Amino acid sequence: MPRPQVIAYVALGANLGDAQATVLAAMKTVAALPDTCLLRASSLYRSAPYEANGPDFINAVIAIQTRLDGREMLFKLQQIEQAQGRLRPFKNAPRTLDLDILLYGDSVIATSDLRVPHPRMWERAFVLLPLSEIAPRLVTPAQLAQVAHQAIERLDGHPARLT
Ligand code: ADP
Ligand code: MG
Repeated sequence: MPRPQVIAYVALGANLGDAQATVLAAMKTVAALPDTCLLRASSLYRSAPYEANGPDFINAVIAIQTRLDGREMLFKLQQIEQAQGRLRPFKNAPRTLDLDILLYGDSVIATSDLRVPHPRMWERAFVLLPLSEIAPRLVTPAQLAQVAHQAIERLDGHPARLT
């Protein structure tokens, strides 16, 4: 039996180096994972660091269809982070690349290394705005209103070009 296809949403963020290039390249790399294809990519957004210091972040969200299970996906995403030279010197440290699984189908996952839906996604404008751009039915106006005070801008002229 083939494994089921699942639609998952992944948040991308970077605030060191050429963050735009890193995020766009990471979209392509995730899209090229085995048994995985890209469904949608949001625009790029620029956000002020949230509960953190350092340069502004570049953020985006992608929708993928995959047969990888949640743990396999997390492992692959961590490999991609590491290939970008990601270090974790302290919590919320500036990072060359952060890849978070927001949603994995309808699954609720609560293991020590993977929690889905991502527990902090609803607090973060840099997740909810790009997510609502590509999946408007997943985010309510009330949820958007709760993060409306957070500094974020959509980068015009930079719709994620993947081809
Ligand atoms: P954060 O993304 O919270 O700023 P990290 O990227 O360093 O921090 O992730 C810390 C840990 O969060 C990872 O080691 C990973 O095991 C765990 N984690 C739990 N749930 C998720 C998820 N849905 N997506 C990505 N990482 C997750
Ligand atoms: Mg992360």
